[in-house]
Amino acid sequence: SLFSDLRPLGPEGPFSLETQFIADSDSCKVNLIIGAYRNNQGQAWQPPSLVEAKKRIHVESCLHEYLPLHGSAEFLESSKLLVLGPEITNQAYDRIASIQTISGTGANSLIAKFLDNHTHPANIWLPDPTWVNHADIWKENAPGVDLRWYPYYDESSRSLSFSAMIQTLQRDTQENDAILLHACAHNPTGLDPTKEQWEEIALVCKEKKLFVIFDSAYQGFASGDLDHDAWAIRHFFTHPGLEFAICQSFSKNMSLYGERLGALHIVVSRKSSSPPTASVHGHLAEIQRACVSMAPLFGSRVANEIFKSEDLHLMWQADLLLMSNRIKTMRKAVYDELVRLQTPGNWDHVVHQTGMFSYTGLTEEQVGRLRKEHHVYMLPSGRASICGLTCANFKYTAQAIHSVIT
Ligand code: PMP
Repeated sequence: SLFSDLRPLGPEGPFSLETQFIADSDSCKVNLIIGAYRNNQGQAWQPPSLVEAKKRIHVESCLHEYLPLHGSAEFLESSKLLVLGPEITNQAYDRIASIQTISGTGANSLIAKFLDNHTHPANIWLPDPTWVNHADIWKENAPGVDLRWYPYYDESSRSLSFSAMIQTLQRDTQENDAILLHACAHNPTGLDPTKEQWEEIALVCKEKKLFVIFDSAYQGFASGDLDHDAWAIRHFFTHPGLEFAICQSFSKNMSLYGERLGALHIVVSRKSSSPPTASVHGHLAEIQRACVSMAPLFGSRVANEIFKSEDLHLMWQADLLLMSNRIKTMRKAVYDELVRLQTPGNWDHVVHQTGMFSYTGLTEEQVGRLRKEHHVYMLPSGRASICGLTCANFKYTAQAIHSVIT
């Protein structure tokens, strides 16, 4: 066969662990693998705003026509407003090119291909560590761009390695390089820069003439407050001349995981009297056409329903608070239990990190023992999805961690 030389590949990391988890028949098993919200019963959950939006859509009578190439114009207006806020959206009305994408993954892939085709950065700088898919997205979509890593996580202090990050960016980046920044709730570390640190990062990006890509997969889900989680992105706008892209996902904050709803927005600078927004817009659609034609319809219908009705918007904000608060409560619960058990080490990071994940600091060997001896599953890097904890299993999980450490 033409394919005999193909190297056999199993399912990728988290997906292979998920298969093992499903096959595990132990009644105490705990799933801290996949980044998807679970309720206190450990079940996938539909937020009330989503349930109500679907009722209002009258699914039975919906047509299933193609969306335009750029996606739903109504959705793009609202998603832009959500991430940039009304003031910036107004000010930059003629210099934001937006396109609906196949969720955050599609937005990341599209910007990689777009830059590789049109602006030719020598390097893309990714945080070390980052979401497992980032490196593959760039390798697959931007073969002309080299992958480089900037330090992000200091293992000994379990904190942001901020000075090393800044030093690397100052010393090693070239003009026109692209840099990926997580807008909030950094995956996998749960560590975000402070406002002062964001200000410094923006200055370096500006000075070194880098093109910034914000990956915004957790707006509102991280803190429960949509504006708070968009602060860094909006701050970058205050630096005239900085051009940047936003890869926006609605998987987590609207619980639309499988519907693949997202957007890519590119903020173009106003150096000339007529910013090249229309050209950017046109080329984005050209690439998207060749890859997938256009994004799927249903998710944008649901989101439009939530965006256009004040009562649903408020309901959605309450859902975001509920989800983020449950995660915070579980962080505190497992932390208190580890302290009560006098588990060796300092566990403060579990409560200080934000978003869905905790970068626990457990070694690959300890994670392996957790799985084999206690049926508690997390990524080999020690990343645990806090959403998998419930009032019924956090004590068991803390005890399991305690026993692989002592
Ligand atoms: N970026 C980051 C940082 C993520 O954590 C995720 C989801 N795990 C994504 C992008 C993309 O998710 P989706 O394609 O479902 O929007």
